[in-house]
Amino acid sequence: MDFQKLLKNPKPYAIAALELTKRKLRTHLSRGSAVHCEICLWNGAQFFNGKCPKCNSLPRTRLIPFSLRHFGLIRGNQKILHIAPNLNEYNYVKNTFENIQVYDRLNIREVPHINLVQDITKTDIPDNSYDLVIVWHVLEHIVEDRKAASEIYRILKPKGNLLMSVPIYPAGNLITYEDPAIKYEDYEKVHGHDDHCRSCGMDYYKRFESVGFSTQVLEEYTAEGLKRYGLSQNHVVWCFSK
Ligand SMILES: [Zn+2]
Repeated sequence: MDFQKLLKNPKPYAIAALELTKRKLRTHLSRGSAVHCEICLWNGAQFFNGKCPKCNSLPRTRLIPFSLRHFGLIRGNQKILHIAPNLNEYNYVKNTFENIQVYDRLNIREVPHINLVQDITKTDIPDNSYDLVIVWHVLEHIVEDRKAASEIYRILKPKGNLLMSVPIYPAGNLITYEDPAIKYEDYEKVHGHDDHCRSCGMDYYKRFESVGFSTQVLEEYTAEGLKRYGLSQNHVVWCFSK
């Protein structure tokens, strides 16, 4: 800890210490085995507001392990590209896949656990580079998502897989809606989030089929999955194959 910084501005440190204490207390109070966080392997009585008290993972993040298993994608010796992972997603993949040949993490901005700072709509990654690409709640932020779909198709190996989820908004929405005339400041009013450039619907997978992918879908999970792993509802997961 940098004590000079702490003395100058103690507030962020106090907030971080308080958050850590809160999580430790919740972890302690929630001892049990009814729920299991597949991100940090914590077992307990309950999640708190959907979050794991130990690693703070969100329900939608915990849907990744469930989906990877559902589609049989957890295999050894793979080359993996993870687009804009959060820290929990990164740690999960790093610790779960055996003998990873390559695990690249791409983001348009520099983030500590990222190793490729590139734009997914136009990378300099060679053709047929990866066995698996994971893109989780990212494409609703990317205006040129069709270009991103083509780029992912290009850099996947033949028979490679793309695991993808986007938020469906509003819940159950069937038809994807976007309009370039909608201004950035109106995104929240129209799309439910101040940085979402479209409202994705259940038909969103068609954009990926149009660049050559074939599709499998996971839209309903078992009640056991929902409760035990604290999964997000109203989300859909697609597994695309090249
Ligand atoms: Zn956890």
